[in-house]
Amino acid sequence: MKIIDPHIHCVSRTTDDYLYMARSGVVAVSEPAFWAGFDRTSADSFYDYFRHLADVEPKRAARYGIQHFSWVCVNAKEADNVELSREVIRLLPEFLDRPTVLGIGEIGLNKNTPNEIAIFEEQVDLAAKTNQLILIHTPHLADKHKGTSIIVDILKNDRRIRPERVLIDHCEEHTIRLARENGFWAGLTIYPVSKVTPQRGADLLEQFGPEMIMVNSAADWGESSPSMLTDTMLEYRRRGHDERACREIFYNNPCRFFGQSPKWKLKPEE
Ligand SMILES: [Zn+2]
Repeated sequence: MKIIDPHIHCVSRTTDDYLYMARSGVVAVSEPAFWAGFDRTSADSFYDYFRHLADVEPKRAARYGIQHFSWVCVNAKEADNVELSREVIRLLPEFLDRPTVLGIGEIGLNKNTPNEIAIFEEQVDLAAKTNQLILIHTPHLADKHKGTSIIVDILKNDRRIRPERVLIDHCEEHTIRLARENGFWAGLTIYPVSKVTPQRGADLLEQFGPEMIMVNSAADWGESSPSMLTDTMLEYRRRGHDERACREIFYNNPCRFFGQSPKWKLKPEE
């Protein structure tokens, strides 16, 4: 069965991971811009990272028959440096015009600081002005509920933002309603440790799915794995859901959300 990983950081993964994804049916991935594990010291460093996302990774993925799409932004963790963030925001329009860049993301909050909120709002404004899709990172653990609430309030208060064009990612049991009840797409990030496990992911799919939900691995340079997507699908199948139900969540839903960008060509299938 064909599947799509809607959130994975391929720049941090090996060719073995690409091979694994190809073998397990992944035909397309979407890669948001994120924190490198250390703070970058200049806008030039972001510029080269965006070139990596827009120019290099699509070619690398194509060798495994995988279509690669990406997003650009200043991530929440580095957004506390307001001056540098504004320099980086000025670089974004050039990349938003690239053929495989789907929008602005993953923007959001980390520690919910006033600086993070200011830079988040400036990037939401750019997305609204340039009609971009938005991919949202919500904070970890203790800061998650508060951060998700602040993000949802900002987006709802901006009348230019259409919620169906926004994916709120890393939702958990206590935040998924905030996304769903306000008309946003909800992302479930499945991790081997921390975040949501494949079992909890299947629970959430049964409780809330399948409309406007996507499952992703968010695999990066930390303990994470592209196999979390297939493991969650196997757990969901084990509970009696058929292939058609899986296709809705693991293929058709990403096609529906990303398909709002004219750059995305894959269509939902029966
Ligand atoms: Zn991420």
